[in-house]
Amino acid sequence: MSLSSLVISTPANSAILKYKKQSEGQVCKKSEVNKTVKLPNKTILVCSEYGVGYYNTAYKWTIKQKSKSSTKLAQSEVTLGSTTQSAKVTKIYQNILDSFKPSPEYFKMTVITSPKVNMTKVNEIVSYYENSINFFPVPSNKKITWVFLNETEKDWWLQKSSEIDPSPNPDWWDSGKCQISSTSKCAYGNANTQTPIFYSVVGSSSNWETNDQMISDHESVHVYQMVSWSGTHTNCWIIEGQANAIGMAMSSRKMDMNNYRQAQLRDIQRISSNYKSFSVEDWISAYNKINSDRDFCFKNGAGYSMGMLAVESMYDLYEGKIVDQFLIEFSRSKTFDETLRKYFKISESDFYKNVALYAKSSV
Ligand SMILES: [Zn+2]
Repeated sequence: MSLSSLVISTPANSAILKYKKQSEGQVCKKSEVNKTVKLPNKTILVCSEYGVGYYNTAYKWTIKQKSKSSTKLAQSEVTLGSTTQSAKVTKIYQNILDSFKPSPEYFKMTVITSPKVNMTKVNEIVSYYENSINFFPVPSNKKITWVFLNETEKDWWLQKSSEIDPSPNPDWWDSGKCQISSTSKCAYGNANTQTPIFYSVVGSSSNWETNDQMISDHESVHVYQMVSWSGTHTNCWIIEGQANAIGMAMSSRKMDMNNYRQAQLRDIQRISSNYKSFSVEDWISAYNKINSDRDFCFKNGAGYSMGMLAVESMYDLYEGKIVDQFLIEFSRSKTFDETLRKYFKISESDFYKNVALYAKSSV
């Protein structure tokens, strides 16, 4: 598979809209939009954490009516049907966070901006991206180009990417992974380790929100991959699995990632509706399937969901620095099995057994 056919992108704002829990008597802040959400039995009012997106039906909502006599919808309490982050995940995130040390020199991106994009917003986003990227040891002499445009500049994007990008992606916008609108904040990269170029659409009415930390953290992992890997990986799940696992560990320093992580896990239903009752053997078959059928893997977002679990399972078992080194070396032409034997003294089939055990205990 050529590099140009691999595209990396963020799932962060295109598919998920989260709602802030309203406690009794609380009203939504002015910057938040009061939104109604239709549930099977009733309509509720919530404060929106994002100004864009749509209600993700994968979320389970539990509603407790605090007071029947109250007419204030704001007194409805909405909780997501999930628990807090487990101790196991907290330990994995800490292992990830401990494994990277930034370079002594601050890394800066090479920025290209379109004629119409809002420069104030671009500067703000660049500072978030650079902050995230500098979590990693990215040499300051490496060149990472980041192109910013707004939602109306498709023609400019087509022309600019054909001029500067050896692996241009002709599909607006990354084949529709981002819902392009005036409130979009999406990014994707060309996955070319020789000439890494990233693109961001900065919607003309978008605002950088606290939760967008996930976007800059997730994308910064791709930047790290582009500068530390020498090729790409044959397994479909590594790129997005690593970006999701490390990106979430980074974001967990500033926000609670549990609901977002749970939503990624629920997405495994696209692979199989009964994944929750998978045996270890079923999980091994599922990983074999996504490794052998790349199209199936990409179409069902398995890199993000099952990939995240596979990468987490490595950080669960091994020291973070060794996992990072393992993934770097695997990008350098050796087979997965050879690299596993060298670093972890296990075969590929034993590796997937470990992943399967971890996946089974995680969903
Ligand atoms: Zn990604």
